[in-house]
Amino acid sequence: MRLKSTTRFGLYKDLLSSSNYFKLVCGAGNEDKNEVEFLTFVYTLAGCAGFDVSASPEIVDSAKKGINLAIEKSFELGIEIPFIPFITVSVGMPGDHHVRKAIITNDCVSCNLCIPTCPTDAIPDNLIITRELCIGCGNCEAVCPPAANAIKYEHNSKELLTILPKCVEAGAESIELHAGVPDDSSTVKEWKIVSESVPNGMISMCLDRKHLSNDMLIERIKIAQEIANDRLIIQADGIPMSGGVDDFNTTLQAVSITDFINKELKNKYPKFKKLPILISGGTNSFTGQLARQCKVKFNGITIGTHARKVISSFFSRPADFKKDKLLFAINNAKKLIDMNLYH
Ligand code: SF4
Ligand code: SF4
Repeated sequence: MRLKSTTRFGLYKDLLSSSNYFKLVCGAGNEDKNEVEFLTFVYTLAGCAGFDVSASPEIVDSAKKGINLAIEKSFELGIEIPFIPFITVSVGMPGDHHVRKAIITNDCVSCNLCIPTCPTDAIPDNLIITRELCIGCGNCEAVCPPAANAIKYEHNSKELLTILPKCVEAGAESIELHAGVPDDSSTVKEWKIVSESVPNGMISMCLDRKHLSNDMLIERIKIAQEIANDRLIIQADGIPMSGGVDDFNTTLQAVSITDFINKELKNKYPKFKKLPILISGGTNSFTGQLARQCKVKFNGITIGTHARKVISSFFSRPADFKKDKLLFAINNAKKLIDMNLYH
């Protein structure tokens, strides 16, 4: 990978323009400091370019800690880390899946069906959801019997004007707004705050087609670009947080939405020709391969559930890692990155 730029902004751009940007999503709602430290530690050693974390200065701190520990460890392991990965913090509009927290109401009939479906083990036997672990995926709601309908959500509200500068001060270099909601005017209001919070950094808008028609999606990107100009990244979210299974079908919609944006925007309007698109939402080992087979161009791939899953059995505090176990974890993470970007 040839990286020419000497500035962080230029480096980010280089990674995107060469389609070499792999981002691990620790989870917009994941406020488990130990897990974030573990994920950033292993994936930095595996060559990950960026991390997406919850908009909390403490969580940014945990990510930085994981990255720094990885850099220290890289000398001992003889692994070259060509650059320090970027930290992006994620915030979301009310109603967006990424920033909600599930709760179990009194209508629960204690059937326990939801417990094994939770990807983060946030539902213990006492059926009181561990808020910090919930990533709002909706798996529990999907299995909850309709007669009970006991899963509800709370918006994980963050006061953007207050929280974002603190995250930037803690080390976040980029911000992502999950904006998969129909309302343009409130989205624009929050997008402006995002833009002003990192005036010299890349900003990403994550969009899906659950509440936006194809036309609304394209219109939303045009509006986002007017504010962000060349700092804009679009995270094309196939089906939000649907990456549990590792096969072609699971990643189909993620590639499809990217293809749609390419055809309806990037290929049609010169102004959008270089707009960076990150594929997400149902991404797994097959995403890059499917996109290449379908000739769908992309600038990077961002993976959450599946990327966390491939190393979850190795969970350890960085200082407690046994060398062979660590090398296995790094190998699994690296394989996922390589399969997506380089095969
Ligand atoms: S299944 Fe998803 S939404 Fe439900 S508690 Fe677990 S993480 Fe939260
Ligand atoms: S699936 Fe619904 S009813 Fe069953 S334990 Fe979970 S919340 Fe309660």
